[in-house]
Amino acid sequence: MLDLLIVGAGPAGLSAAVYAKRAAFEMCVLEKERHGFGQITLSDRVDNYLGISGVDGYALGESFKKHAESLNVPFKYSEAVSMEKKNEVFLTTLQDGKILESRCVIYAAGAVRKQLGVEGEEHFAGGGVSYCAACDGAFYHNKVVAVIGGGDTALGDSIFLSKLCSKVYLIHRRAEFRGAAAMLNRIKRTDNIEIIAPASVTRISGGSHVESLTLNNGKIIDVDGVFVAVGTIPNTALIRNLVSCDCGGYIIADEDGKTNIDGFFAAGDVRTKRLRQIITAAADGANAVSSAEEFLRNR
Ligand code: NAP
Repeated sequence: MLDLLIVGAGPAGLSAAVYAKRAAFEMCVLEKERHGFGQITLSDRVDNYLGISGVDGYALGESFKKHAESLNVPFKYSEAVSMEKKNEVFLTTLQDGKILESRCVIYAAGAVRKQLGVEGEEHFAGGGVSYCAACDGAFYHNKVVAVIGGGDTALGDSIFLSKLCSKVYLIHRRAEFRGAAAMLNRIKRTDNIEIIAPASVTRISGGSHVESLTLNNGKIIDVDGVFVAVGTIPNTALIRNLVSCDCGGYIIADEDGKTNIDGFFAAGDVRTKRLRQIITAAADGANAVSSAEEFLRNR
């Protein structure tokens, strides 16, 4: 029986692993892909992780993993197909039918960014199509970009990018915006943001890098980059029946990672939080281990 099962080997899961190993937990990290470090691998350059600038996301993920491996953290590469809690023990069933038993769980399975699903999007991913303005915005200094979406992320990204870029097009499929009115008002007062709504992008085009967008009204807009902000999908299908999630599917948990289920902690992008970044995910992993230690001590 494990003290702790960590699900996911992104920054939150690996940070939890390092802290749990130092706390001498009998533990294991469950990750479905041998070289999977979560969404971090999507960033071609990370400049906002303290102390390490200008690193590509994959390399940073690898260094997190090496750190955990240097402490002899045990990894199991398999996908969980179900998880339940019986008699104070978490039972996690893997694809091969094997069941892992643990006293507590840190669930750090992350989220996947929703894609637009238009022609050119996959082709230019990492070459002009980005899903993270905070990670990649700095590469578009004095350039023309488009932000796609109508929620808080798209509005916040537009404001953030307007300070770096010469021009920002905010393109939304409806005339009404889902995001906060205060942010929308601020956008309307910002000279270098142009709202194009209602309109949908039908194609992303270019040569070696993004050069233009085609809209559903036939209009073509010249841009150097596109920021897709049409929502994220948390990887919580496995535990939806076990733990409380919000209407977006995120596990309801604060900074300490505690959920409505004793012994089940959430860390990283998978939990309800404002800022989903590598550094906040790593912090979550550490906090969740502290909560797990407290839980096991009190049992
Ligand atoms: P969101 O609220 O789900 O908004 C996604 C936006 O993308 C919507 O406007 C939606 O359009 C649009 N969209 C979805 N699929 C699309 C598609 N295929 N093509 C074109 N447009 C599409 O996602 P989010 O903005 O990432 O926010 C997620 C959650 O985090 C929200 O609860 C938000 O409040 C929260 N958040 C909070 C803050 C903060 O500062 N407090 C910052 C960021 C995010 P429709 O409106 O037409 O559906």
